[in-house]
Amino acid sequence: MKYVLVTGGVVSGLGKGVTASSVGVVLKSCGLRVTSIKIDFQQPDPYLNTDAGTMSPFEHGEVFVLDDGGEVDLDLGNYERFLDVTLTRDNNITTGKIYQASPSPLLEFSVLEKERKGDYLGKTVQVVPHITDAVKNWIELVASVPVDGKEGAADVCVIELGGTVGDIESMPFIEALRQLSFSVGKENFCLIHVSLVPVLGVVGEQKTKPTQHSVRELRALGLTPDLLVCRSSQPIQENTKVKLSQFCHVSVSNILNIHDVPNIWHVPLLLRSQGAHEAIVKQLNLFSKATPPDLM
Ligand code: ADP
Repeated sequence: MKYVLVTGGVVSGLGKGVTASSVGVVLKSCGLRVTSIKIDFQQPDPYLNTDAGTMSPFEHGEVFVLDDGGEVDLDLGNYERFLDVTLTRDNNITTGKIYQASPSPLLEFSVLEKERKGDYLGKTVQVVPHITDAVKNWIELVASVPVDGKEGAADVCVIELGGTVGDIESMPFIEALRQLSFSVGKENFCLIHVSLVPVLGVVGEQKTKPTQHSVRELRALGLTPDLLVCRSSQPIQENTKVKLSQFCHVSVSNILNIHDVPNIWHVPLLLRSQGAHEAIVKQLNLFSKATPPDLM
């Protein structure tokens, strides 16, 4: 299994969900089979809720209900529409599910249930390794379940980490993903960091500092981005890309830009026109499976 992790920096609501779905579309257009997992806790209200069903739609947006009855974040709706897949409640990981809720039979028991059953054999139950192991197992198990009606596991699992890098609630997940990236190896793990490039009205200059800081924060946590997706109101200039490349340790060709568009269906086209599929296929060494894109 190959993994594409999408993280976000600087502010929430940047369009990580739309970016992750669009990355899935460009990979699908190369003939690859794609599944997705969303890890949830949102800024500015990091939550421990088991699912979106008990959260106010006024604060978090509408709840998306999956075919199996799972009440989940509306990003899962984007994945289903963009990728033409049918996801299950297991494709949405939350802190509440990892700690307490009885997951599906596929996933045996949650960490606290296991502790009560004595499964840890007297050991001290800790965030690392018990919660992080539960997250890794969950990702590996769910990624292997087909969601496109075909048999066998998908080629690529796109994982979206909700919130913004640095949230306290995200730390166990970041650590689990760091361990996962290490265990599956560089050829099987591609990290896309979505960040903001604002323009200060008075100066009129595209500012790279917020992105530099968020990449530094990510690297301090042991994850290095392979691709940067810069969100901006207007297309970013070449010299902004060069500066980002110098400071963020990402090659210019792997710095992509998604500016504001009239509707989100333009986003896969934007990514494809900048060669996102080529960069990901190269990073994940998927040349033998990927064909040239034919959808767009
Ligand atoms: P996040 O997952 O980072 O919280 P979402 O993917 O849910 O963000 O997007 C937040 C909002 O921004 C959504 O309403 C989405 O439609 C909109 N959006 C995302 N990307 C773009 C874009 N490139 N242009 C215009 N609107 C966008």
